[in-house]
Amino acid sequence: MDFYIVLGLEPSATLSDVKRAYRRLARKHHPGINPGDRTSMAVFRRVNEAYQILSDPEQRRRYDARGGVPDPQPESSLEFQGFDFSASAGAETASTFGDLFADVFQGGDEVDGPGAGGTDLHLSIRISFDESIRGTERSVALVRLERCTVCRGAGVLRATEGRCNDCLGTGSLRWVRGHMVFSRSCTHCGGSGRQQHRTCERCRGEGSVRQSESVSVRIPPGIADGGRVRVPERGHAGRRGGKPGDLYLTVEVEPHPLFRRDGNDLHLVLPVAVHEAALGAKIEVPTPDGPRRVRVPAGTQSGQRFRLRRRGVPALRGGQVGDLFVEVRLVLPHVVDERSKALLREFGKLNKDNVRKDFETSGRDVSE
Ligand SMILES: [Zn+2]
Ligand SMILES: [Zn+2]
Repeated sequence: MDFYIVLGLEPSATLSDVKRAYRRLARKHHPGINPGDRTSMAVFRRVNEAYQILSDPEQRRRYDARGGVPDPQPESSLEFQGFDFSASAGAETASTFGDLFADVFQGGDEVDGPGAGGTDLHLSIRISFDESIRGTERSVALVRLERCTVCRGAGVLRATEGRCNDCLGTGSLRWVRGHMVFSRSCTHCGGSGRQQHRTCERCRGEGSVRQSESVSVRIPPGIADGGRVRVPERGHAGRRGGKPGDLYLTVEVEPHPLFRRDGNDLHLVLPVAVHEAALGAKIEVPTPDGPRRVRVPAGTQSGQRFRLRRRGVPALRGGQVGDLFVEVRLVLPHVVDERSKALLREFGKLNKDNVRKDFETSGRDVSE
């Protein structure tokens, strides 16, 4: 098919000759004007095809160089129905295919800038007190945007160069409103009219797809309640190949029934029986590393504290290993039998020291 003959032109025709011829023929054979006329439809398609090549200097040069053999073109699939030429007919600005099929080309997404970084993912997990002391490893189930493996995050696939499907090779999109003709550069092909890539179908051009995943996270020993663990680049994938965001895990530590944490120190209340406190005893004390026997000296008072050095929380990121503070709480036995009662009465007689003697020296009125 000789495109020059299709448009009724000499090979020396200028670009404006091409446009003029195209405009004339496209209107004459347009399917909207010749409904149901298959010959007109066929001519219209050929006219259109010829125009795409001859109106583009680069494609026309290649066409001429091949001696009249066109580049392989993707099959056009336009609907030729319901268009109204009245607004643009005769208007000099309305000179291209795009003018005539204005409303088809409206819309179209703005192209995002490349390489935007991905957003961070925030999750929280709950671990036991023991796990917080020893450290642990957890598998976290999450849904994240993963880089598309088909297009490697680009959102587009390289393809053989062809006519842009959005602007049909014109490089601009035009539409008519009343007597006004609007136009803008085609964002799909960057105004070149040619397409060098097509949108990736798997990710629909996003460069990433939603994916359920299980990420293994190491929780370091010594992490405190509310502490955060960062897992680099396990957040959402970046747009169009941008760097992925990070995954942040906020760690909730379950309280321990015995230990209370304060910084890296641990506090423990140790029940001690009266006779143990009075006479002294070796008592087994729980620590994070397991029970340890501690000597409670004779005459220990309730509320007295002992420090077990470096028996607290392990150091996290260069901090100091904490201590374990043990606070004695005297516990009375349930005295029910007569012999114990008699022993305590005798004990009272033998120890007449007034345990409230400080009350008298301070002069406080205790008569009420
Ligand atoms: Zn893709
Ligand atoms: Zn285009």
